[in-house]
Amino acid sequence: MYTPDGHTRTCGLIGNPVAHTLSPMIQNHMARVMGQNLVYLPFPVARGDLEAAVRGALALDFLGLNVTVPYKSDVIAHLAEIDPLAERIGAVNTLVRCQGGYKGYNTDMPGLYRAMEQDGVEIAGRDVVILGAGGVARAVAVMLLDRRAAGVHILNRTVDKARAVAQEVNKIAGKSFARAYALKDYGQIPGQDWLVVQATSVGMHPHEEDAPIEDPAFYRHVEIGYDLIFNPGVTRFMRLTESGGGRACNGARMLVYQGIIAFELWTGTSVDQNTADELCRMMAQALGQ
Ligand code: NAP
Repeated sequence: MYTPDGHTRTCGLIGNPVAHTLSPMIQNHMARVMGQNLVYLPFPVARGDLEAAVRGALALDFLGLNVTVPYKSDVIAHLAEIDPLAERIGAVNTLVRCQGGYKGYNTDMPGLYRAMEQDGVEIAGRDVVILGAGGVARAVAVMLLDRRAAGVHILNRTVDKARAVAQEVNKIAGKSFARAYALKDYGQIPGQDWLVVQATSVGMHPHEEDAPIEDPAFYRHVEIGYDLIFNPGVTRFMRLTESGGGRACNGARMLVYQGIIAFELWTGTSVDQNTADELCRMMAQALGQ
């Protein structure tokens, strides 16, 4: 049995709320399998206490932290360094101890990319439809730019937010890469056989009977429907995708891979495929899937 000792390194998750997180299960399991003397704990941080939390972690010599809602952007002000990808995305979910503080990374998007690779989803040269224009949708658009997608069509209930995200991403791209639409205007998207990334919060537990778009005509064009939601394991968006003849994936692999990449950054190790697969199975079981 593993017992922490005087050499144990501490990592954790800061955010609010953090009570329902699956990250301690993922990280502590990985630490045991990989033989790392490391423990990982959730730390709820009240609004206004973010700077104190980061300073406290530094004073206590924490090896690293994950950062979740609502601090992924605000934490940037409290870093010693930031990785260029995280800077472009404008969101940090992983802090790694460095000279004089923490260096911020975004492992959500490399995690999504690795998950998509595992799920056999090709991005390069492809037009991608993104549903949503929140923090994650924006990050997905930047990741797709980095991974040489041909372009993105961003659909959002509040069209002004889609326009703002498209404008920001086009500025980063230095070309016209992203176009904005209202969610109801999916009829204007050119082409067919779409890869659709579902990045709204619609359909999350406990609102499992909701989907951002209901019209079967939309789903007849969806070749791959990639929902970033992982609870429930099969969303209404995924069921509608399959009814239209497309293939559907959920966000569980993304969650596992963002954790794996964070762990690799903290420990300098490389997590093997068997461990990654085992983590996916553990997560599905923990979610009752
Ligand atoms: P966010 O910033 O709060 O954005 C929410 C998005 O959902 C907005 O585009 C919003 O549209 C849209 N939306 C909310 N309610 C809607 C409704 N009733 N009808 C239509 N659209 C609606 O959230 P986020 O941080 O980007 O996260 C988005 C989702 O990503 C999360 O819910 C989560 O499931 C998923 N996620 C997954 C992982 C993973 O590891 N798998 C990690 C992070 C996040 P408006 O702009 O019009 O309000």
